[in-house]
Amino acid sequence: MAKAILLTAADCLAHIGNPINEKGMTLWDVPPALEIGVIPKRVYCHQALVGPLAKAFSALIQSGEVQFLKTWDGCFNIRTSKGGSSPSLHSWGLAVDVNAAWNQFGKPPNLRPQFVKCFTDAGFDWGGTWSTPDGMHFQLKQSLFAAGSGAAAEIATLAKDVATHTPNPTLAAALALTDAAVRLLATLDRPSNTIQAATRSIAAAAEQLRAENG
Ligand SMILES: [Zn+2]
Repeated sequence: MAKAILLTAADCLAHIGNPINEKGMTLWDVPPALEIGVIPKRVYCHQALVGPLAKAFSALIQSGEVQFLKTWDGCFNIRTSKGGSSPSLHSWGLAVDVNAAWNQFGKPPNLRPQFVKCFTDAGFDWGGTWSTPDGMHFQLKQSLFAAGSGAAAEIATLAKDVATHTPNPTLAAALALTDAAVRLLATLDRPSNTIQAATRSIAAAAEQLRAENG
């Protein structure tokens, strides 16, 4: 199996910026159906983590592995990475720690493979496989981050384009923006209410445009 490219602090600095600005962070209100065991009621994390986390929590519950989730040890924390000098992905709310007491940095990890799979299938890389293991640590896959930030950048460019045509944006620009928004949505498995609502209103506006322009 090809070695996965990990998401790095450099990627985050380039696409999100200085973590002190807390750009893209959201207080995710975890749906009641997912509040099982020690799964928290609210998670302050990057918007991009909401979908994968919801998927992981759902998988833990459905598989029964949630009983092995002993402690939730946090997400957002501006600090350097353990055993390194660059910022940790926790600085951007793109990583979570679980069962920390039994999975300390540099020690052999102690998590069931089925448990780990709930996270890795949901879009996380696991620190437990690293040369210096970080068994408690799960972070967003680089591929998901790249897809999301690529689509977001495209939307930003298109939105600027539409704005420069205001008050008469071209139908083509508006529809391109809609298509980009829909693609962005596809990268977020379980988008937050805010994104869902925004996408619905963009889709409704596009429908209206299509209707008005035949
Ligand atoms: Zn961590």
